Amino acid sequence: MIIVLKPGASARQEREIFREIHRLGYKPHPIHGVARTVIGAIGDERTHKTLETLTTWPQVESVMRVQKRYKLVSREAHEKTSVVKVAGLELGGRKIQVMAGPCSVEGEKQLLTTATAVAKAGATILRGGAFKPRTSPYEFQGLGLKGLKLLAKARRETGLAVITELLSEQHTEMVAEYADIIQIGARNAQNFQLLVSAARTKKPILLKRGLSMRIEEWLLAGEYVLSSGNSRLMFCERGIRTFESYTRNTLDLCAVPIVKAESHLPVVVDPSQGAGRADLVSAACKGAVAMGSDALLIEVHPNPREAWSDGAQQLSVDQFAQLMKELKPFIAAADRE
Ligand code: PEP
Ligand code: MN
Repeated sequence: MIIVLKPGASARQEREIFREIHRLGYKPHPIHGVARTVIGAIGDERTHKTLETLTTWPQVESVMRVQKRYKLVSREAHEKTSVVKVAGLELGGRKIQVMAGPCSVEGEKQLLTTATAVAKAGATILRGGAFKPRTSPYEFQGLGLKGLKLLAKARRETGLAVITELLSEQHTEMVAEYADIIQIGARNAQNFQLLVSAARTKKPILLKRGLSMRIEEWLLAGEYVLSSGNSRLMFCERGIRTFESYTRNTLDLCAVPIVKAESHLPVVVDPSQGAGRADLVSAACKGAVAMGSDALLIEVHPNPREAWSDGAQQLSVDQFAQLMKELKPFIAAADRE
C-alpha cells in the first residue's frame, strides 16, 4: 500500500501514521518529497489488515493499493495457463470448444433435434437451461428436473457433454448430478453463497460476467470458487449493460485478452446473450476467436421463431452448421484448432 500524506503534515503526524502502520502489521518506508511525504507500507495486503482505515486520519490524503485483490485466479500466483478438463475435453487448450444448444430445454424433440444437429456440425458440449432466470415471473421458468433428465438423455444419445445453469442453492445437488459443467448466470454472478455451493460440488464452473460487473469484480467472484477448493473455473463474457440499444448487451471482447492476462483460467464468449441478435452472432464469434477466446457458447434452436425464450438471438440448426464452416479459417488464423 502507498499512503500519501497531506502537504504540511507535521513530523509528529508522520510518526503517528508510522505507529499505526506498524500496529496493522506492515513496515513503513517514507519518501520525503518537496511538497509532501509518501509512505510505502510493506506487507501482504491479502493477509494483513486493511490499511484503508488510514484515510480516516486527518493528515492522510489518500491510500492506494499496489497488489491485486484476487490471488488464486491470478497469473501472479499461477503463471502457467490452466486447462480445465471436462468429460474428456480440454477447455483452454489448443482446441476451441463450441458449446451449443437451445436457450431453454422445451421438450424432448426440440432438445434431441438440436443436440444431434450441433454434434454433427462439430459442437462438443450441449447447452440448455432447465432453470431459467427470467426477468418477468410470467415468462417460461424452465422445465426443472424434467429438463435436466432430457439433457442427460441427449448426452447419452449424442456423446455431448452438458452445461446447464444453476439458479438456486436449493438445487445444487440436483444440477450437479446431471451437469458436466455448472453455469452460473449473469444475474447470479455475485451471489457468493451460490458460487461457494456450486464450487463445493467439484464440478467445472462456468461463471458468466454480471450485467454491470467490472472485470475486477468478476475475477473476485471467481476467487470464491477457487478459494472453496475448486480450480476448474471458466470465465464467460456475455456482454454488459450500457446505454447502447442496437444490441441487447454490449459484448466486451477486450475483456477476453484482459482476463487471460490477469488470470490463468480459460475464457469463453457467449455472443448470443452478448448481441441478442442472431444476425450478429457470426461476426461476434469470429471476433471472439481473434481476441483469444477458448470456447464459444452459442444458442441454437430448431425453430427460433417458436422458441420459449430468447428467440431473437438463437440460430437455426442450418445457420449454426454454416457458422461452424465459416469459423474454420478464423480458428486457423488464431493458431487454434
Ligand atoms: C443463458 O445462457 O441463457 C442466460 C440466461 O445467460 P445470462 O446469464 O448470460 O443472461
Ligand atoms: Mn438465453
